[in-house]
Amino acid sequence: MLSIAEKELLQKEDPYWFEELFYRDLESWFSSDIACCDECYDDYLACWPHAYAADKAAFQCSSIDLECFYSGSRLRAYYTKEQFDKYICLISCPRCGNELKYNIWPYSLPFNAIENFESKINEISEIAKKTPFLLLENYFAREVYDAILNISKETEKKLLSASLFRARESSSLKSEEISEFDFPPNSVVSEGRYNHAGMPVLYLASDPKTCYHEMRGVPCTIAELNLLEKIKILDLTDTYDSHQDYSDLLSTLVYSALMSAKQDNTGWHRPKYVFSRFVGDCANSAGFDAIKYPSTRGGEDSFNIVIINSSLSISKHSKLIDIVKYGEHDNTAVTNG
Ligand SMILES: [Zn+2]
Repeated sequence: MLSIAEKELLQKEDPYWFEELFYRDLESWFSSDIACCDECYDDYLACWPHAYAADKAAFQCSSIDLECFYSGSRLRAYYTKEQFDKYICLISCPRCGNELKYNIWPYSLPFNAIENFESKINEISEIAKKTPFLLLENYFAREVYDAILNISKETEKKLLSASLFRARESSSLKSEEISEFDFPPNSVVSEGRYNHAGMPVLYLASDPKTCYHEMRGVPCTIAELNLLEKIKILDLTDTYDSHQDYSDLLSTLVYSALMSAKQDNTGWHRPKYVFSRFVGDCANSAGFDAIKYPSTRGGEDSFNIVIINSSLSISKHSKLIDIVKYGEHDNTAVTNG
């Protein structure tokens, strides 16, 4: 990296004002600042895993190499390519401070992220690893709890008109009765994104394919259901329309590693689920019946709904529409009718 003296020298040699012209073109081309560079790309996605696929993969599409940026920008009118390569050292990545070398990602998260959120992620991750039951000692966790209580007061129960899908591993299914798809017995429930071990919830998805991906591709039997009861949903997929006052907070959580980090499903140690389980507890205590959240494994617009109110048995409160098998013959779906 350039020393301050070297940078000043380079600025003196600069015939125009490289930094100003660079940012002017970046702004007019992408309307956003640089989210990350090659150096900090992995770290950016570790903090904001949902940004990778969300919003029609806008983040991935924003990648541009500096040569293309030069050829497409008005900088060409002022600098030769050699001069561009020389003066680019004057621009450093706003995220990690390193000089830009090959690629940049001009991208802004599609909401106003909570200030200094990345340091909050670190604080919460430390507690999650060491003393998960003490999360409420953390001021930010407390803020999230209070927000969810307030959101609950403003949220009405509603009837879902679209079908939802619930998968079971085909090999463990005794029949295709609706009761087979209901809350599992406590004794077989391991820790999940929104539930503690031994405390059953119902994970449902927006479509069979998302169910199948959430089941990590094991052959599964999927029930298509219509919920017949009105339910109160904490909606983490469409936060602006559903919970406008807290939309930035909820979106920040959902895009971040706190709620959307991928967790491999082996073993008992699942620290990446601690904060989402905490949110599950907050929602449960605030009177929500379910949480709707984007799938980390399905495609664009796919979502999951987890029913956290254990009195909402699907045998009693929903209608079975269809049964579909997935993953048994080259991953094609077979409908039983
Ligand atoms: Zn960087």
